[in-house]
Amino acid sequence: MKQQILDLEKLSSQLEPDSHTRRYQRRSVIEYGERFLENLTESKAYEASVRDNEKLLSEELSEEGINIQSVIESVENKIDRGGINPASGSHFGYIPGGGIFSAALGDYLAAVSNRYAGVWFASPGAVNVEKRLCNWMAELIGFTGNAGGYISSGGSVANLTAVVAARESKKISPQQSSKTVVYLTKQAHHCIDKALAIAGMRGCLIRRVEMDESFRMDPVHLNLLIEDDLKKKLTPWLVVGSAGTTDTGAIDPLNRIADIARSHNLWYHVDAAYGGFFLLDKNIKQKMCGIEKADSVVMDPHKALFLPYGIGALIVRDISTLKNTFRFDADYMQDAEPDPAEYSPADISPELSKHFRGLRMWLPLKLHGLAPFRAAIQEKLLLARYAHGKLTAMNGFETGPLPDLSVVTFRYLPEKGDPDEFNRLLHQELLKDGRIFLSSTLINDKFILRLAIVSVRTHLKETDNALKIIQEKVTQITGPSEMISK
Ligand SMILES: *Cc1c(COP(=O)(O)O)cnc(C)c1O
Repeated sequence: MKQQILDLEKLSSQLEPDSHTRRYQRRSVIEYGERFLENLTESKAYEASVRDNEKLLSEELSEEGINIQSVIESVENKIDRGGINPASGSHFGYIPGGGIFSAALGDYLAAVSNRYAGVWFASPGAVNVEKRLCNWMAELIGFTGNAGGYISSGGSVANLTAVVAARESKKISPQQSSKTVVYLTKQAHHCIDKALAIAGMRGCLIRRVEMDESFRMDPVHLNLLIEDDLKKKLTPWLVVGSAGTTDTGAIDPLNRIADIARSHNLWYHVDAAYGGFFLLDKNIKQKMCGIEKADSVVMDPHKALFLPYGIGALIVRDISTLKNTFRFDADYMQDAEPDPAEYSPADISPELSKHFRGLRMWLPLKLHGLAPFRAAIQEKLLLARYAHGKLTAMNGFETGPLPDLSVVTFRYLPEKGDPDEFNRLLHQELLKDGRIFLSSTLINDKFILRLAIVSVRTHLKETDNALKIIQEKVTQITGPSEMISK
C-alpha cells in the first residue's frame, strides 16, 4: 500500500510545481497579460462570436496536461476573443465593468495564500479586511453606529441577500406573500424581481410607481399607492429606490422616499449597484441625500470602483438584521471561536467558504489611495456631460435628460422613415464595426441608444472617438445627401 501511496504522490506532485517551474509559468502568464494590455487600444470593443469560441465546447479535458504556452494560446484565441471586450475603454454598453491591474495582483495573492474569508477564527486578517471595507462603504453612504455589510460576488446576489433580510426583519412568511406589497419603478433592475422569486416572494404584489420625465420615482404616487393598499388591508413591505438606474443613471428622490418608507414602517432598500461609488463626489453625495436613511444599500465595486467582475456589496444600517437572518450553527463548527466583533461573513450572508474578494479591493485602495478613484469618478461624470452636450449639438440627434450620473441616452431622428428602425440599424452597424460597443434599450417604447461612461479606460479621446464613429455610421446609412441637405 505504501508503494501505491508513493506512486500516487509522484503523479499528483505535478500539482505542486517547483520554484523554477513556477517562475516559468508565472512569466508566461504575465507576458500574455502584458501583451493583452499593450494591445488594448487597437483591440475591438465588440466582436461577434468567433469560431474558436465553439471549439471550447468539444475540446477534451484529457488525462495528460499540456504546456502552459499552449494553454495561454487557448486563452488568447478561444477565450479572450469574441463578444464584448470589458477591458476596452471603448466599451460603453450596459454598465461597463472595471478591471484595474492592481486588483489582479490582489486576486493573485488571495488565490496563492487562499485565506479563508468566511470565518473570523480561520482568518481574522481576511475577515477584518472585509469588515474595514464594509465600514468604509458604510461611511460613504453616511451610515453610523451599528452599520456593517457583506462583500458578495456581485449586485444581484447582494440585492437577493437584502430582500431575504427584509423579509425576515419584517417577519413576512412566503404564505403571506399574496397580501404583501413591494414598491418600485419600471426602471428598477430586474435582479430585484429575480430576488423576490428566489426569496419565495414570487406571489407578492408589485406596484410600479410612476416616474417623472427624468425617470425618477414620484414620491407622491408612492405615498398614494401605500395608503391605498393599507385601505385594502394589504401589507406594504418593501420599497426599492435606485441610486443610479441601469438604463439612464437616474437617481430617485431618496430622501423623500425614506420619509415615506419610515412613516409607514416599510423596509427601505436602495439599489446603488451602479451609482454607489459616485458618492466619492461631493455633488453626487448631495443628489443622493437620504441614502443614509435606507435600511440596506447595494453597491458594486466591479462597476464604478473599476474592479474586475466578481465583487458586489450589501451594506445595512443595522448589522443585526443580517445576523438575525443568516446566522446558523452546526456541530462541526464548534471550534470556531466567536469573533470579538460578534460576527463573521458567514453569519451575515448565504455563503460559508468564500474567495477572499476583499483583497482585490483593499490592495488597490491602499496602493493608489482614494484620490485617483475619486478623480476617475469625477472624470466619468464630466465626460458624460460633455458627450451629452456634443450629441445634443450634432445634427439630427435627440438626447435624453442631462445625466444624473454617467449614462447618456440618445437616438438619431432620420428625415424620413421610422426612427426605431433607423436606430436599430445604426446599432447593428456599430456592432458590425466593433471599434466601440454600445447597448440599446427601450424607453417609453422607443428604441434608444446608450453611452454608459464607466470604464476606467474611457477618457476624452475614447469619448470623442465614439462620437466620431456614431456620426460616421449615421452618414453611411443615410448616404451623404441627408447630411448635405441640412
Ligand atoms: C448591474 C446592476 C445590478 C446587478 O448587479 P450584478 O453585479 O450585475 O449582479 C443591479 N442593479 C443595478 C442598478 C445595476 O446597475
